[in-house]
Amino acid sequence: MNFILEKQALPDLLQTWRANFDVYLPQNLERFTHFMPLAAEGVTVINEPHNTRIPPKALFLPMTETLVKFTRFGGYENAKHEIEPRIVFALRPCDAQAVQLLDTSFLQVKYSDPFWLERREKTITVALGCHEPCDNGFCTTVGYGPFNKADLDAMLTDLGDFYLVETFSEAAETCFNGFANASETICVQALEVQQRAHDQMPVAFETENLKEKLEQNFSSNYWDKVSLSCLGCGVCTFLCPTCFCFDIVDETQRRERVRNWDSCMFRTYSLEASGHNPRPSRVERTRQRLSHKYVYWLDQVNQIGCTGCGRCVRYCPVGLDIRSMLRQAQSLPFEVSHAS
Ligand code: SF4
Ligand code: SF4
Repeated sequence: MNFILEKQALPDLLQTWRANFDVYLPQNLERFTHFMPLAAEGVTVINEPHNTRIPPKALFLPMTETLVKFTRFGGYENAKHEIEPRIVFALRPCDAQAVQLLDTSFLQVKYSDPFWLERREKTITVALGCHEPCDNGFCTTVGYGPFNKADLDAMLTDLGDFYLVETFSEAAETCFNGFANASETICVQALEVQQRAHDQMPVAFETENLKEKLEQNFSSNYWDKVSLSCLGCGVCTFLCPTCFCFDIVDETQRRERVRNWDSCMFRTYSLEASGHNPRPSRVERTRQRLSHKYVYWLDQVNQIGCTGCGRCVRYCPVGLDIRSMLRQAQSLPFEVSHAS
């Protein structure tokens, strides 16, 4: 269904939702925007061409979370978390796509993560499409886009004084019940805005044969060059909406087993108990970061594991730019393999 939502009606709508849902939306905190719960006094809806610093993956995979509680004498019980029905409002399409990519790890047929599953089942996602390109973003290069509709319950297109709301699930339809249906003319107008936004996105690098070039040049000194200035701070991975490395530790004083975000850019991430480290330097760790997104995800689920959100470019303290790294990769030697 397609609805019209006047911008002036939005604050009241968000407050109405609060009666039945926890509502999360981007809000200013110091210099950045973050997904935070909507309070009774309301907030201004942010529609600037950028996404939040911490991606909404944190709403599904918290930075730290207790999995198990145990006693001194060997007893234990699974942790319980109160997860209320929620609406995540104004997330960007690249971040919604990232959550779908993470489903491929957390919701497998054989093993699925119960906390992730419950949060996914209890969440309605209402995205705000990007009518202007954001700095550093390159979603169309990796096959997605500023109005990518994958894994959304609803999508808003900014048309001046109002939004066109497209709903893709019954749950979302219920949320916008009572609003006027959009006319054919308005839907066409929205399509034009969506197409224009798509066309404005720059092509950051060529993806043709990129996977094969990275694979074939596993031992190339290309990796030394592109990792030379890396500090190993892990910012690019912590803020990446598709990175999901975690560590599980027993906090013995609290008697809790806890899962914490971790990063493959840290030396200790791959350090083995024997003292051996298969990724001993930032060269191997940088290779792992890029190869995971542009080689291994493709092998595993046939999707590039980067949504082009641009965060790693924006926040790297030494200006390492994945777009430039992948442009350089495109000039690496490459042999076409012929199937026999
Ligand atoms: S690799 Fe960079 S651009 Fe790609 S999804 Fe992660 S943070 Fe965004
Ligand atoms: S943010 Fe930059 S410096 Fe920090 S680990 Fe990533 S690439 Fe290296």
